[in-house]
Amino acid sequence: MVQKVYVLVLGAGIVGVSAALHLLKRGLKVALIDRRPPGEETSHGNAGVIERDGFVPITFPDSPKKLTRYALNRAPEAHYHRTVLRQTLPWLRQLRAHSGSVAIDRFARAVDQLERHAVEEHYAFARPVQAELYFHSTGWLHLYRSTASFAETDAELHYARIFGARYEVLECDAVRVLEPHLWPVFTKAVHWLDTEFVSSPVAVTKAYADYFIARDGRFAIGNAKSLKAKAGGWLVAIEEERYWAE
Ligand SMILES: Cc1cc2nc3c(=O)[nH]c(=O)nc-3n(C[C@H](O)[C@H](O)[C@H](O)COP(=O)(O)OP(=O)(O)OC[C@H]3O[C@@H](n4cnc5c(N)ncnc54)[C@H](O)[C@@H]3O)c2cc1C
Repeated sequence: MVQKVYVLVLGAGIVGVSAALHLLKRGLKVALIDRRPPGEETSHGNAGVIERDGFVPITFPDSPKKLTRYALNRAPEAHYHRTVLRQTLPWLRQLRAHSGSVAIDRFARAVDQLERHAVEEHYAFARPVQAELYFHSTGWLHLYRSTASFAETDAELHYARIFGARYEVLECDAVRVLEPHLWPVFTKAVHWLDTEFVSSPVAVTKAYADYFIARDGRFAIGNAKSLKAKAGGWLVAIEEERYWAE
């Protein structure tokens, strides 16, 4: 039997489930498809951080020192395998071309627009399904070992001030009042105050999926790779069921 829906959402992680719920709330008929029950892959155990920072992207290394660290695979934020270096060269060229101040500014403004609504949008879904208990307004502490590494946050803090993202710069002693178990191997910290922590990303994703199903959204287990163009739209075949959307 073919079920006609308005939208097919492939993948029921936090992204797919949230998109499906938003579409449903707009009165559209939605089918959400995953090969497993909702929230069982990355959204099962991500770090649970709903960020209100990260305005500055990782850019192409701009100093010989940094470039050497990257080349020797000594930077925690980037790791590459020598055998695929040739294939990644076009991508690296693109990264370099987009690492200037204009591109960074564009990135920061786009991230701000996404992040500034994230927490309130989560609460709008979480409240009706009692998933608020997984949300904690603890903020997020970034620790810096040296004053030189702390100085690298200048651009980040600059954008935070422009966008009104709240933060506090703390000295080591003040951090240990908040987190007494931390060993004092750092000099400074930034406490991002508007960042929310989710203690169980999988429970939140499943709660939203239940909310979606309770509101008459269709959830089906099946392989999204069965997707094919059909009759001017798209068809996914799952055992006996078929879902079609324009
Ligand atoms: C270790 C780690 C920590 C992270 N921490 C954070 C964090 O703290 N904050 C943050 O914002 N982001 C974090 N991320 C980014 C993370 O990717 C997102 O937070 C989020 O969980 C991704 O959700 P998703 O729905 O895109 O992906 P997923 O949760 O992986 O969902 C994709 C879904 O697609 C399904 N699927 C795939 N292929 C098929 C197929 N062929 N047929 C049917 N279904 C299919 C999978 O089963 C899965 O359920 C982290 C990522 C990692 C790896």
